Amino acid sequence: MNPPEVFTLADLESWQATGPCLAVLGHPIAHSLSPAMHHAALALLAADEPGFGSWRYFKFDVPAETLAQALPVFHAKGFLGLNLTIPHKVLAVGLIERVDPAAAETGAVNTLRRTPAGFEGFNTDSHGITRAVADAFGLSLRGADVILLGAGGAARAAAVACLRERCASLWIGNRSAGNLDNLLQTLRPAAASHGGELRGFAPASPPDGLPRDALVINATSAGLKPGDASPIDLSRLRGRPRVYDMIYNPRETPLLRQAAALGLESANGLSMLAHQGARALELWTGRNVDASAMLDACARALAKS
Ligand code: NDP
Repeated sequence: MNPPEVFTLADLESWQATGPCLAVLGHPIAHSLSPAMHHAALALLAADEPGFGSWRYFKFDVPAETLAQALPVFHAKGFLGLNLTIPHKVLAVGLIERVDPAAAETGAVNTLRRTPAGFEGFNTDSHGITRAVADAFGLSLRGADVILLGAGGAARAAAVACLRERCASLWIGNRSAGNLDNLLQTLRPAAASHGGELRGFAPASPPDGLPRDALVINATSAGLKPGDASPIDLSRLRGRPRVYDMIYNPRETPLLRQAAALGLESANGLSMLAHQGARALELWTGRNVDASAMLDACARALAKS
C-alpha cells in the first residue's frame, strides 16, 4: 500500500473540504503514523455515531519558517484540529489565540483545537508519557524516582508530567550543559509549586547520588539514527531501573538493547504516541477514545513502513 499523501501549504490554498478535517503538521512528516492511528479511532467512533465517518486526518509538510503563515490558513479553511510535531511545538505557543494553562507550564503545544477566534493549544505529550509508563510497568509517576534524559520539547513535557504527578525525585541528564541549565531554570517554579526534588547531571558521568531502582525515561533523539550511541550506560545505574524509551522507530534502540541484555523491564515509545493521540482526538471530538485501537493501528502501520 502506498503511504498516505503528504500535502503542502500550496495544496492548502486550494483546499476543498469534503468533511471535517484534522491534520498533523511537521517537517519532515512523510513517515508520520498519525493518520493511520486517528483513522482507526475515527472508524470506531463512526460505528456508534456515523457522523464521524466523514472526518479525515491529513499530513502536511510545513517547514518552521512557514508555520506563522500556515496557521491562519488552516483556520480559514475550517480545520477542526491540528497536531504539531518537530519543529513546531515550542514555536506555535506564540502564534495561537490561547494556550491551555497546563500546556503553558511545558512551554510547548502539540495539539490545537479550533475556536471561532483562532486555535487554542494543548500539550497531550504529558498525558501520553504518564499513561505509557502506567501501561508498560504498572507504575504511577506519583512517588517515583525518575531519571529523565534530554532537555528538548519531549523532555519538557515529561518533566512537567513528573512534577505535576508529584514524583519523589526528578534527575535530568542532558548532553549539553547549557540546554540542561535552561530546562532546570524553566522547571524551578513547577518544582516549587508541586514539590519533589529536581536535580541535573551529566549522563557521561552519572553521579553516585542517582536513585536506586529508578524509572529511566529517554527523551533524547539518541537512538533514532543507525550508529547512534546510547544516551546513558545503564550498567552504571544502581538497582534495577525500568527503562522507557520515547523512540518507537526503530523499535529497539541501543538503550533498549542494553536494558534487555541486563534483564531490565523496558518499553519503546509507541504507547506514548497512541496515548497522546487519543487525548488529542478526545479534545477534538468530545468523546472517549480507545487508545488501544490507536496503538494497534500504529503497530500495523509501522510493520508496513
Ligand atoms: P528536541 O530536538 O527538542 O530535543 C532533542 C534532545 O535529544 C536534546 O536534549 C538533545 O541534547 C538530545 N540529543 C540529540 N542527539 C543526541 C545524541 N546523539 N546523544 C545524546 N543526546 C542527544 O526533540 P524532542 O524533544 O521533540 O524529541 C526527542 C525524542 O523524543 C525524539 O526521538 C522524538 O521522536 C521522541 N518523541 C516521542 C514521542 C512519542 O509519542 N513517543 C513524542 C515526542 C517526542 P542537546 O541539548 O545536547 O542537543
